[in-house]
Amino acid sequence: MFSLEGKRALVTGSSRGIGKGIALCLAKAGAYVAVNYHSNKEKAEEVVKEIKMLGIDSFSVQADVSRKEDVKRMIREIKSKFGSLDILVNNAGVVTFNNIEEMNEDEWNKVMDVNLKGQFLCTKEALNIMSKNGKIVNISSIASGGAGVGFGKIPHYAASKGGIIGLTEDLAIDLADKGINVNSIAPGVIETDMTQDMVTDEESSKKLLEHIPKNRFGVPEDIGNATVFLASDEADYITGVVLYVDGGWLTK
Ligand code: NAP
Repeated sequence: MFSLEGKRALVTGSSRGIGKGIALCLAKAGAYVAVNYHSNKEKAEEVVKEIKMLGIDSFSVQADVSRKEDVKRMIREIKSKFGSLDILVNNAGVVTFNNIEEMNEDEWNKVMDVNLKGQFLCTKEALNIMSKNGKIVNISSIASGGAGVGFGKIPHYAASKGGIIGLTEDLAIDLADKGINVNSIAPGVIETDMTQDMVTDEESSKKLLEHIPKNRFGVPEDIGNATVFLASDEADYITGVVLYVDGGWLTK
């Protein structure tokens, strides 16, 4: 496995789900991890405890990634605890399901602000403390346009996830001379709170699995392992890519 020994990481939205899986995989590879959460302090503390049981330093930090002042405070806390940052994983995200006819501006803005503006704000602030050869991994989705996967009823979410790919490619160019790599991971359907209804409902689960050659839903560790690779020194020549971790969905 790739080593991240001694590296310092921030994973946004890592109190649960994919973020938790990423935080644990980074820690298992040796990285110290700041566990960001929005409202679930208890869950975040459980993740910190699991990481500390591996003999790895970790702490939790509250911040709404869509609020500039929260993000600034989070980065200040990380600076005071870790000194600097080698790995930023922009993972925090939310979704709602609605027709455009029913969707109001607030619903649109909330998803865009957390999913897309949140990555802009966290990246902008993290750059102030990021080391040379830093690695940024932005979590997008197969539902991001361009890949031929549409779900329906998530226009705001799909637009935010497509925006993340644009953000990733553009920053990969701008930050290359600072030695910083920026890549994106586009997960398929991963079992978390976000997808609980669709993977537990028999009919919808059967329909979804028809798209997945690996014939199973992903688990958070599938995304965590891919993140470890992109955050490692071995990925130094990889920047600006989208890595689809989807059990083969796009090939079908
Ligand atoms: P999840 O189980 O709902 O977990 C969401 C995480 O994001 C929680 O840790 C939550 O913190 C945090 N969060 C929510 N709003 C936040 C905010 N404003 N500021 C900071 N943190 C916030 O979701 P998930 O399935 O793990 O998804 C994680 C990421 O993967 C998202 O970007 C999602 O779009 C993406 N993704 C998921 C799938 C999938 O199939 N699950 C597929 C493709 C992409 P609290 O616990 O404090 O609420």
